[in-house]
Amino acid sequence: MKDDPTIPADARFETRAIHVGQDYRSETGAVIPPIYMTSTFETGNPTGFDYTRSGNPNFRNLQATLASLENAKHCTAFASGISSITAIMLSLQAGDTVLSEQQIYGASYRLFEKVLRRFGITIKYANLANPENHDMIAQIKPTLVWLETPTNPLLKILDIKAISDVAHSVGSVVAVDNTFASSLLQQPLDLGADLSQLSTTKYTNGHSDCLGGAVCTNSDAWQERMIFAQKALGLQPSPFDAWLVARGAKTEAIRMERHSSNALTLAQRLETRKGVKSVKYPFLPSHPQYALAKKQMKSGSGMLLADFGMSYAATLDFIRRLRLFTQAESLGGIESLVAHPASMTHASIPKETREAAGVTDGLVRFSVGIEHVEDLWADIDRALASGK
Ligand code: PLP
Repeated sequence: MKDDPTIPADARFETRAIHVGQDYRSETGAVIPPIYMTSTFETGNPTGFDYTRSGNPNFRNLQATLASLENAKHCTAFASGISSITAIMLSLQAGDTVLSEQQIYGASYRLFEKVLRRFGITIKYANLANPENHDMIAQIKPTLVWLETPTNPLLKILDIKAISDVAHSVGSVVAVDNTFASSLLQQPLDLGADLSQLSTTKYTNGHSDCLGGAVCTNSDAWQERMIFAQKALGLQPSPFDAWLVARGAKTEAIRMERHSSNALTLAQRLETRKGVKSVKYPFLPSHPQYALAKKQMKSGSGMLLADFGMSYAATLDFIRRLRLFTQAESLGGIESLVAHPASMTHASIPKETREAAGVTDGLVRFSVGIEHVEDLWADIDRALASGK
C-alpha cells in the first residue's frame, strides 16, 4: 500500500507526522505498518530490498516521515545520533577542514578529536554565537561548518541563516545538529543549512526506549553519501528501533508543545525564586540571544539550565531530593530528567577549565518532561526548600 496520495500537499506538521511514511502495510489492513524483522529479502522481489544493512521498509517509512517533518527532499536513518554524525564526517576526506562551534555535545567532540584527526581531517573551533567570529568562516573556508543550536549543555543559540550565508559565499557546507530544538521547533534547511542531523533518541522518539539518528538534506549528492554511509559503514538502525522512532514522531508536535510550555513556566518561576543565581532558557527575555531564538525557533523546547549557586555537594543533595526528576544522562523523553554537568558530562574536565566554560558546581540541567507543570514545580520548590 502506498502513502495515501490524498494527503494534501499543504498538510501541516501534525498531520504529516501521522500520515506520511505509512507504506508497506501489507494486505492485512493494518493501520500501522508492521516491523520488518528480517535481515534479508528474496532476490528479485518487487520492492527492491535486498539486505537490511542497505534498506528495510521500516527505515524507508521513517525516512519519508522525517524528510517531510524537516521540509527536506531526503532523509537517511541511522542507529544513533553519533552514527548519523559519523556518516556525515566520514563522507569527508583527509585534508578537509571542519570548523565547529566550540560548545558541542561531548561525544561529538570526542568523535572529532579522537577519530577524525587520526584520518587527517583538520578540526578548528570557534564561538559561533558571536557574530564577529563569522568572518572566520570566510577566512578558513572550511569544507564543513558544524553547528549545534541550542548547544548542549549551555543553550547558546547560533544564527543558522547568517552562518549559512557566509559559509555558502566561500563554498562551505553547513550541518546543524538539530537535536536540542527538534524538527517541530526548528527547521535548519529552511534557514539555509545543507544538512540537518538529529539524535532521534531524544525528542523524535520521545519515550527514552531506543536510540536513533537521522540526516535530512535537499542535496542529491549528500543523500547519496548518506545512503552509502548507512550500508558501507554499517550505521543502519534495527527495524524495531526505526519503528519505535516512527511511532514517536507521530506525537512529536503535541509533546513538544507541552515540553516547551512546562519548561518556560519553570524557567519563569525559577528566575524569580529566592536563592536561584541564574536561569538560562532560550525563550526567557533574559537569554542573551532571546531575539534570535524567537526568530529561528517556534518555542524554547524542554531544556532548561539553572545555576543554584550552591557547592558541588549541596547541588548533588538538591538533585537527590527531587522525586519527579530522575538523575540521568540524555534528554527529550516524556519523563523529566535532571543532570549535574560538573559530576556527569564534564566530570573529567578540571574544575577551573570547566568553570571558565560556564559549567559551575551549582549548574543543573533539566530535561523538562510532559508531566503536569504544577507537580514539577512543587517538586523543585520542595527540594530547594528542604535544603535550608
Ligand atoms: N547530539 C546531541 C546534541 C546530543 O545531546 C546527543 C546525545 O545526547 C547526540 C548528538 C548523540 O546522540 P545519540 O546518543 O543518539 O548517539
